[in-house]
Amino acid sequence: MTKKQRAAMAVELLEQAYPDPVCALDYEQPYQLLIAVRLSAQCTDARVNIITRELFAKYPTLEAIAAAPVADIEDIIRSCGLYKTKARDISTMTKLLLTQHGGRVPDTMEALLDLPGVGRKSANLILGDIYGQPAVVCDTHCIRITGLLGLIDTKDPYKAEMQLRACLPMDKANDFCHRIVLHGRAVCIARRPDCGACVLAPCCKFFTGSQNATKPKAKAPAKAKAPAKSKTAKPRPAADTL
Ligand code: SF4
Repeated sequence: MTKKQRAAMAVELLEQAYPDPVCALDYEQPYQLLIAVRLSAQCTDARVNIITRELFAKYPTLEAIAAAPVADIEDIIRSCGLYKTKARDISTMTKLLLTQHGGRVPDTMEALLDLPGVGRKSANLILGDIYGQPAVVCDTHCIRITGLLGLIDTKDPYKAEMQLRACLPMDKANDFCHRIVLHGRAVCIARRPDCGACVLAPCCKFFTGSQNATKPKAKAPAKAKAPAKSKTAKPRPAADTL
């Protein structure tokens, strides 16, 4: 099976398993997604959703957040880590949206990357979810699982994105990335993948035992939990520490 065939099979299998590939971050306006993505660095989506609920209730418009005292933003987002940097980025970013982009979130990779705190992962998410452009969001789940599938051979996010762009059907890549996250949380969990219950097993290089599968180099924890019971024999990938 070629890499493109393997990728196409993974796309199809995940489509069947997760028909609704929603973004885990709550938002109503594009700028709110941009803020939520900025907050999500080293923070769970669930925590971000709690924080943004309060933030967007207190500052319900882009103009309001741009005018908010940075110290006030810090107070609201304090529980998500790196809050000082994130608050500064949110304040500067929202001001730039108003002064340089007419109050709109830009729709190009280049313009998005010019915003403070926005990297390729965030930019891809915006381009895919807001503008429906072909996008590959290389987060920790995506890099880990597509490595196990044998679609990529790197843990570098930029290289991973380029390798996935070369093999994924790009009209389905954005949804595929959302589904990979859902799958990484439900089945292919970093330290205890449930391979026996995994729809991706037929196209997983790790599971099928290929020597070419990418195996994460991170050290396994000393007392890693055993995979959940299953009728199918399950190999165990090394722990992911991205
Ligand atoms: S078969 Fe196992 S290692 Fe492969 S994607 Fe599924 S859960 Fe992960």
